Amino acid sequence: MSQTTTSRKARAPVFISAPLAALVEGIYRADTTIGEIRKKGNLGIGTFNDLDGEMVLLDGLVYCLRPQGDAELIGDDVRTPFALATQFEGDTEDRFDVPVAESDFEHAMLDLVPSPNLMYAFRIDGHFNYVRARSVPKQSNYLPLAEIAKLQTVFEYHDIEGTIVGFYTPTFLAGVHLAGLHLHFITADRLKGGHLLAAAPKDITVKLQHAPAIELGLPMTFDFLAMDRTRDMEADLNKVER
Ligand SMILES: [Zn+2]
Repeated sequence: MSQTTTSRKARAPVFISAPLAALVEGIYRADTTIGEIRKKGNLGIGTFNDLDGEMVLLDGLVYCLRPQGDAELIGDDVRTPFALATQFEGDTEDRFDVPVAESDFEHAMLDLVPSPNLMYAFRIDGHFNYVRARSVPKQSNYLPLAEIAKLQTVFEYHDIEGTIVGFYTPTFLAGVHLAGLHLHFITADRLKGGHLLAAAPKDITVKLQHAPAIELGLPMTFDFLAMDRTRDMEADLNKVER
């Protein structure tokens, strides 16, 4: 593995359109548009209103990964209840030119995180021996997120080129975003992908960028204003996001 440090200049904050806690309570609609997300950065992840697919924001373009695993470019008028974005260039670049086992992948990525107390954006490009990802079918509002784990579709890809994007979030921000790694995958032809469940890279380049701050949106929707938090967020997230 080789590392190059590309720069140490001031970085953009990570924009988070709403606390993840709202999604856990089943609030699947907000007024934030894809156009607003794209103004906040060129790299990100999230979902769409009614959980209509997984989101990848890559090189400034927003893709929706459908439950069949097909990707579609999304216009600026579509809305999202939850998305993250940042302006990404990369502070560091690491090359893994030997295969990494599925069981070692998460640990290898976490080893690159210099401090557990900042947020970091990831961009991983290259060739994978194996990738497992999922997407969810469109939901009705208010169905608790934990119920949706049963409805997800899981895809497996072997010997595939692609890109993984996402974030590392410190544990003290757990109500705002999933603590630890949250990554989404899209194939190099930008035609398939989903929320990443597992990966075994063959030859990849990993770019990492720290965020000195977060910008958190608080939706002014009735659902959000009236939200009464009742669910065990950590238990629910373990069912659906891990
Ligand atoms: Zn996800």
